[in-house]
Amino acid sequence: MNEQSRENGREPVVPEHVLTDILSGQTALVTGANSGIGKGVALALGAAGANVVVNYVTDPDSAQELAEKISENGVRAMALKADVSREDEVGQMFSRIRKEFGTLHILVNNAGIQDDAPFADMSIEQWNKVIGVNLTGQFLCSRAAVREFRRRGAEPEVSSATGKIICMSSVHQEIPWAGHVNYTASKGGILMMMKTIAQEVAADRIRVNAIAPGAIRTPINRQAWESEDAYERLMTKIPYDRIGETRDVGRMAVWLASDLSDYVTGATMYVDGGMMLYPGFTTGG
Ligand code: NAD
Repeated sequence: MNEQSRENGREPVVPEHVLTDILSGQTALVTGANSGIGKGVALALGAAGANVVVNYVTDPDSAQELAEKISENGVRAMALKADVSREDEVGQMFSRIRKEFGTLHILVNNAGIQDDAPFADMSIEQWNKVIGVNLTGQFLCSRAAVREFRRRGAEPEVSSATGKIICMSSVHQEIPWAGHVNYTASKGGILMMMKTIAQEVAADRIRVNAIAPGAIRTPINRQAWESEDAYERLMTKIPYDRIGETRDVGRMAVWLASDLSDYVTGATMYVDGGMMLYPGFTTGG
């Protein structure tokens, strides 16, 4: 039961992660892993047996602390600093991963930011910054990952896929969101980038998919769940009647990274408690 729900008299059940060892022998990189969804995903991948590279750009202490926590599962975990929007830093991060772990099997493009403004007031700096991290960052990391997967080649004893890429998108790859045009454009861009890469690398047995979360309890959207009023308003958009937790996304990432999802590529998995179901039509239309 989560804190907010307890206050609201609800008792939702949020399952814990259960698929231990399913990713044994594989190494995963999670970008922006020292906070929110990235942290939930990194913990879930580690619990499923993967070695985890915890990428971060600020707050090295929290990244180190997370790496230590993940390694309690008996896997290797390492904090690595890199700004995903910078080609040189992404290149250095992948060289280091190759040196330390030999190769990479799973990339989770999670790092993302918001810098909101009404459309007519949005500066070019705000536009470029969000596109730079959210879209260009995913392009740079995906390109480096595909190059590494191809260099290593297939390892059928490790996984039926040569490599797996998971792009963190959002329900806002589809739902317009006034005041956030840089963010929605970046997420819409991720949708077509993800599908096009998936089409291009499928013959190499590289699978590329996206997770589109709805409202997940993280610092980025604190204003949507911190007060009871805001939480009640949020629930009018979520048929499943609870906010998402980072481990809800973590379980999906484990499934997409594992051979359980072999034959799934170019797909978007909505982890949104039904936000995409047009809840405004629940009682007629
Ligand atoms: P968060 O702010 O808690 O985490 C974002 C992480 O990205 C942080 O660790 C941050 O330091 C890192 N980061 C920012 N710029 C970076 C850069 N240039 N290089 C490397 N790392 C960088 O936010 P979150 O809510 O956990 O969001 C994670 C992802 O999930 C984002 O892509 C976001 O768009 C997406 N998402 C979140 C929600 C939600 O409800 N929280 C919903 C839909 C999609």
